[in-house]
Amino acid sequence: MKRVLSGIQPTGAIHIGNYLGAIKQWVEIGEQLGKDALFCIVDYHALTNPDAYDPKRLPQRTFEAALANIAAGLDPEKITLFVQSHVPEHTELSWIFTTQTPVGDLTRMTQYKDKSAKLKSVPAGLLMYPVLQAADILIYKADTVPVGEDQLQHLELTREIARRFNHTFGDTFPEPKALLNPKAPRVPGIDGAAKMSKSVGNTIELLEEPASIWEKLRTAPTDPARVRRNDPGDPDRCLIFKYHTYFSPPEVQEAVAGGCRTAGIGCVDCKKMLFDRMMEVLGPIQERAAELRRHPEAVEAALEDGAGRARALAQETMHEVRVKIGLYKPY
Ligand code: ATP
Ligand code: MG
Repeated sequence: MKRVLSGIQPTGAIHIGNYLGAIKQWVEIGEQLGKDALFCIVDYHALTNPDAYDPKRLPQRTFEAALANIAAGLDPEKITLFVQSHVPEHTELSWIFTTQTPVGDLTRMTQYKDKSAKLKSVPAGLLMYPVLQAADILIYKADTVPVGEDQLQHLELTREIARRFNHTFGDTFPEPKALLNPKAPRVPGIDGAAKMSKSVGNTIELLEEPASIWEKLRTAPTDPARVRRNDPGDPDRCLIFKYHTYFSPPEVQEAVAGGCRTAGIGCVDCKKMLFDRMMEVLGPIQERAAELRRHPEAVEAALEDGAGRARALAQETMHEVRVKIGLYKPY
């Protein structure tokens, strides 16, 4: 692993799925790689979601995404944290890739199918989303991309795009690999049905008020077969137990699983134990966020600094690409 890129959309509040699936790994990688760990708030991607995109709210959401990531442990002094639109070379490379990518490769993407099915009018940008994502990654010649399982198909497409470009124009890009958090590749939403997603609205936010988090846990579904307090339950069919595996130490997991099977512990008590463990993780993140909020200029300065560094790398790759694709007097 030499250089890493990953991104997060400012489409809503960052949630524990983002944290467990992606951000936690980013933090560890940042410790190893320093400035070659690049993390990007992908605001141009957020424009593809007509329900979430609001030009009046985008600046604040972008700032909030940066703040939440820093609060979660990304240290912008060590790594490179920046906003996608501050490096316009991403969109330039993306256009070149769209000219080399068959439409059929894009229409078969499951995220495109899921997200477009909910829309009356589908923006072409939603179809092109994975091409811009490929540009985000390849413009830095990143070899590793820490993501949740939902992004594996897009990563495969990124590798195909790199392969095709290399074949046509000469060796230029590495074929980057996905890096999953094996403990939390796909965190389920609080509805117990879909993947936890900002756009679905089934999240527990990283910076959510504790009372609000408790209310969501209190009313969350458990093993549907466990109707009464005295019924034995199956932890493997319970959303709350799944969350315990993310937040509780092994001995607590064993205790609640055993208690569930024998009806020795009720669902409300099990949820209370989870809430306490969850707040042990989220509490310090929320405190750091409150502190950062008192110094917004520090977050702004970090993003500016990150953009400068990212842009220097991106410009180098773009020059190489412009030459290779045969543009007139490439700059
Ligand atoms: P949206 O609904 O707008 O697509 P999202 O919640 O899916 O938002 P993204 O910004 O698309 O979040 O993804 C940011 C990162 O978080 C990606 O690496 C993605 O794979 C990861 N991720 C998102 N949701 C989950 C989840 N439920 N479990 C694990 N990882 C996740
Ligand atoms: Mg997503």
